[in-house]
Amino acid sequence: MRLYNTLTRKIEELTSQKENFITFYSCGFTTYDYAHIGHGRKYISDDILKRTLTYLGFEVKHVQNVTDVGHLVSDGDEGEDKLEKGARKYGKTVWEVAEFYRKDFEKSMRLLNIFSPSILSPATKHIPQMIDLIKRLEKKGFTYETAEAMYFDTSKFKEYGRLSGQRLEDKIQKAREEVVVDPQKKHPADFVLWFRRVGRFKEHAMHWDSPWGDGFPGWHIECSAMSMYYLGDTIDIHSGGIDLIPVHHENEIAQSEAATGKKFVRYWFHTHFLKVEGVKMSKSLENFYAVSDLVNKGFNPLSFRYLCFQTHYRKTLNFTFDALTASQSILNKLYDTVRQLRTQNERTQLSEEKLSQVNDFRNQFRVAIGSDLQIPQALAVMHEALKSNIPSTDKLDLLYEFDAVLGLDLRNVEEVQIPSEITKLAKKRQQAKEDKNFEKADKIRVEIKNQGYAIEDTPQGFVIKKN
Ligand SMILES: [Zn+2]
Repeated sequence: MRLYNTLTRKIEELTSQKENFITFYSCGFTTYDYAHIGHGRKYISDDILKRTLTYLGFEVKHVQNVTDVGHLVSDGDEGEDKLEKGARKYGKTVWEVAEFYRKDFEKSMRLLNIFSPSILSPATKHIPQMIDLIKRLEKKGFTYETAEAMYFDTSKFKEYGRLSGQRLEDKIQKAREEVVVDPQKKHPADFVLWFRRVGRFKEHAMHWDSPWGDGFPGWHIECSAMSMYYLGDTIDIHSGGIDLIPVHHENEIAQSEAATGKKFVRYWFHTHFLKVEGVKMSKSLENFYAVSDLVNKGFNPLSFRYLCFQTHYRKTLNFTFDALTASQSILNKLYDTVRQLRTQNERTQLSEEKLSQVNDFRNQFRVAIGSDLQIPQALAVMHEALKSNIPSTDKLDLLYEFDAVLGLDLRNVEEVQIPSEITKLAKKRQQAKEDKNFEKADKIRVEIKNQGYAIEDTPQGFVIKKN
């Protein structure tokens, strides 16, 4: 498989350290607000990558953190702690906030049919691992202390800025008046490893003992500590949204490589932004949608998954409700196709020609997903296969096989239960048609429609569908 690597800015052949085994770390969700469709897109990308690797024969060990401490309002060290902000806003404790939004996140991921990681665990359960890592950095001389915090000294790490392609001297802090900055911090790019419970964090609700005093970890250290703890010093793939490249991921590389002296990540996988109607999603613009909002608006959440497939993960996705409606309609048609194929149940022997057609579709699908996850192309292959004249049983098998990667839950498509009254009406309409009473037949069709069903005439008779 070939995959774009942010570090080298090239599409590369993916290799693993251990044969047929991939170690994969994803930056997790900060549990202080609802999981929105931007998160949805990012985790769908991770899911597609993981499903593709599995389909191509790799075993994937996937670790994801849950950020429930230390993530300040900016990705740097400015502003207040996101969880404390959430707690104040909703009149809850930080632990209650963390629990509530972690559950919302997990539910949202299930709605989008995203496989749960092999290990999904909160940062607060890994404080000892973080303290150990900071100690290693301290011993090697990569840290300094101020009255407020323990910092990583970026000037000591020569490679800093390689991932994002920025030079350390160009990193200028955008000082805003309301932002509190530690006056003893040496360089704007230096970042906190451990906050002391002093000054603006005097009342910080989450805190632990450490060699540097009572306090709490900075945001970045959790990902290095957790990925090394579960996956070793060097991991194969690390994912995140592109917004994490310039600060969070640079910092992860710096602190991990400084501690181990080894390469931290072999392939960096970043998903691009989601916009709503062409603009950035934000609460103030009232264009902010939680995953659950789509369900409340009557959409099947998997139609959002389908919508994501239509834009490559390295392009900005423009979300619109028109596009979502269109995706839902394609998905419903696909579900109808699955139902039809199931009933057709053709058991014909595959001819040589048709067998090679099946293999062609399979190969084209593999080529698409294996070429830096060209999912739009993979979808096109699937639709071509459906239009082809291969026997329906084989078509259905192929569809299920592709769905192992796509995750549209096709195996679980339920048969539509048509109420007996609707079937009776449909039969009456059929009779009216046979009697050439077309006016009556049409009236019945409208009545059926008003009850939420559509009737379609086929050479084999009528078919009732749910609208
Ligand atoms: Zn991270």
